[in-house]
This record gives sequence, structure tokens and C-alpha cells, in this order.
Amino acid sequence: MPYNRETAGKGGHSDFIRNPDVQKFLGDCKYLREPTDAEAKELAAHFMPAPKSQVANLPRYVVASDASKSDTPISDKLPSTQIGFLKVSHVLVDMEKYANLTDPSNRFVDPFKVADMHRSASPVTFVMPGSNIRYCGIDNVRDGFRRALFDQLCIDRSESQSGQVLARMLVAINGENLTLSANPCCGIKPGTTFDKKSLIKSCDCGAEVYVTDFLRLHEGISDFGDNASAMTRMMNAVEHLLLAGFITQVFEAQPEALSGIAFILDGPLGIFGEPAKLSQRLQSLIHKVNMRLAEMHLQPMLVMGLQKTGALMDHALLLKRFLPDGVLRIVDDEYRNKFITGGSSPAANFGNETYYGQDFLFKTESGRIFNFAIPYPFKDKTFGGGGVAFAKAKVQMSRYGTLVERACDLIRHFEMDLYDNSLVPVALAHRHASISLVPGGKMLDLLVRSGLGANKSQS
Ligand SMILES: [Zn+2]
Repeated sequence: MPYNRETAGKGGHSDFIRNPDVQKFLGDCKYLREPTDAEAKELAAHFMPAPKSQVANLPRYVVASDASKSDTPISDKLPSTQIGFLKVSHVLVDMEKYANLTDPSNRFVDPFKVADMHRSASPVTFVMPGSNIRYCGIDNVRDGFRRALFDQLCIDRSESQSGQVLARMLVAINGENLTLSANPCCGIKPGTTFDKKSLIKSCDCGAEVYVTDFLRLHEGISDFGDNASAMTRMMNAVEHLLLAGFITQVFEAQPEALSGIAFILDGPLGIFGEPAKLSQRLQSLIHKVNMRLAEMHLQPMLVMGLQKTGALMDHALLLKRFLPDGVLRIVDDEYRNKFITGGSSPAANFGNETYYGQDFLFKTESGRIFNFAIPYPFKDKTFGGGGVAFAKAKVQMSRYGTLVERACDLIRHFEMDLYDNSLVPVALAHRHASISLVPGGKMLDLLVRSGLGANKSQS
């Protein structure tokens, strides 16, 4: 059912809401509500002037990513026999090359430069079995899905065939090895342990187990249901896994280069559902990189999640007219519980299992509103014993160093009306993600070819 206000029929939607049963039900619910004018003014007073570097502190390169998916019948005559198709697109922006992307007097975007940037986009595609499809002769859809996931994440997409495949990355970001909490075949606990050399093993029960079972995506698969939600989880997990892959590979080759790269993801810095455990790995990887960069007296790598939809953005849009231009607020749990999630027994730390980044609301000097996230500057979530102590520590602005002002600088640099309150690189990645006929997957090769790290690092 469409929930989007634009696409849902206006009449149908309000009729449905006016239904007395629905009204009674809503009376029993708590949900995001519109703040009163007085509340909104009070909320607005707690925003601070948005930080700004003296001279915009911009990265040398921007890598923006976006993902799309579709579940498609293999033919019109077989509507319930489907494959899942998933695509993650990355756009690389060389900030020196595109220094004059826009005309500052009117924010006009040079279409030739945009077209050129588009050519440096690189999609990675994954094809998965959906309902009614058995992969590789495996006798049920779920196990076929597991095998397909393993095969898809073992494809080496680099020009150099370096063997740095996503399945191995899963082990790498976990340390030397990775143990399944339980094996999917017979449920034995703890499950199989994998290392970087053995990504596929036999369980004692005789069945094959894969390192990619760690993601637990198959738990959303059944022989007769559709696989749409598993594909959504997979899309989310794979986009972040690819990010981890880029970071790890550049970190091993030229750690100093990461100081000059900003990664922008379209969506929250969080991994949801079965693969949520991955979010902790992302947080600690990014923290490790930034600790190393600090030792090298370099500024930290900027990773930013940009969210255009969701409850926080709905709230921000309600508040927008009360906010002066050029203000920022870090979204603490108390604020979120009171005005956004409407929970009466909030968790000790919002998003404890799923999020690895902190949300900020930012109204730019030109009046556009953004919800961005920056990774928590901690190795894990155990600070002060975790829970409430972590929830307090994660909203102390000083812990983020210059990252908040750099995120704001980057948003200011790329914001424009033309792209519907999006940033240019994200809009390009988004557009690219919806094109399905381009093969590829050579983002790292593009980065290397563009002279990554050959330039002087910013300090
Ligand atoms: Zn087993």
C-alpha cells in the first residue's frame, strides 16, 4: 500500500483515517505529532548556529553511494516466479576537477560536468533467487538463497583480481576469524568458525555452511513467500559492506588517502534486521581508521549518512518554518523520544543494536533542511558501561572534532534546488542506481586511476 502522501489517493487516505475503528485504534496509540507553535519555538531555541570552517574544509574526493532493488517475475506468464535484482551505485567526485561545478552567483549546475561525473559512476549488481526459484539444484529456496548470497559476495569485481571479495571482507572486519552464532542447517551452537582462507565449510551434519550465513539474510526466506523484505535487508547490508570494503582496501594500501575522502551514503548509518550485527563492525572499523589518521597527524575520514525520509525528517519539516537559517542540532535520545518516536519506555540507548552513527538536523544558510549522520567516535558502545552512559557521550559535540563542521561545509557546497533537496553526488548515484543495464563494479579501480593518494594530504 502506498504510504507516500503524494502517491496515495488523497480521498482514499483520509476516508480510511476517518473510519471510526481506525480513529478508536489511533486513540490508543502514540505517534509522531506536530509540535504546537509554542513548542516549536521552544524547540527552535535549542538549535545552535551551524558550525563552519573559516575556509570551507572540503575533501579531495567524494564517493557517494545509493542502492536500488527490484523483485521481478522472470516472465509475464510466470508472475510468481521471481528473481531479485539489487544494485549499488557509486559516484566518484574529484573535487579539484569539479571545483567549478556550479556558478556560485546562481547555483547553476554545469550539465557537461555532471555528465562527465556520471561517467565515473560504478554500479555493482547482485542477482538473487526469489520465490519459486531453486538455485544450483538445491532443493529449497532458502538454502538456494544462502548459496546464491555466498556466490554473489565471492565475485571478484576488481580489475586486478586482488581476491578482496565481500565474503572475505566479512571476516576481515571481524578480525582474524568469524564464528556463526548458530549454523543454519541444523541449528548447532556455536556455529562454524571461518577464516580468510576458508569461506565455505562443512557442518558436522554434513551440510555446507557459508561465511555469508553470518548475515542471517536467509531467515527472511521461505519456499512460498516472496523475498522482498530479505532483499531490502540485503540491500542495506551490502551497501555498508561495500563501504567497509573500500575503506579497508584503501586503508591497507594508503591509509593517509582516507583523510581526504568523504563517503556519503543515502540513508541512515544503521543496519537493520537480521544483519544488524554488522553495524558494530562498521563503527569499530571507522574508529580504527580515524585513530590511525590521528597518529599520522591527519584529519579523520568523513563518513556521512544523509536521510531524506523517515520520522526524523518528517519532524524536521514540521519544525522548519520556526528555525532561523544556518542552525544545527544534535539529536539526543531525550529529544527523539519526546518528539519523534513517541515511546514512553525508551531504550537506554536509541538504536543500540542497529545504528553506528549520530543524527544531526541542519538548516542551511539558504534555508534547506538536512538530516545527516556521522559515525559514533567510539570503538564500540561500551563507553561508561554502555546504555545511558553511551547515549550521553554520543551527543557531546566536542567528541566529533571537526567532523560536524566538515559535514556542514560539504552539504553547503553541494546543496541545490535542482536535485530536490539532495546533494549533487547523491542525486547522481541515485539516478545511476536506477539504470539496470550497465555492468561494472570497479569503484576502487576508478579511485586508483584518479591518482588517489598521489596528491598531498590535507592536514
Ligand atoms: Zn548442520
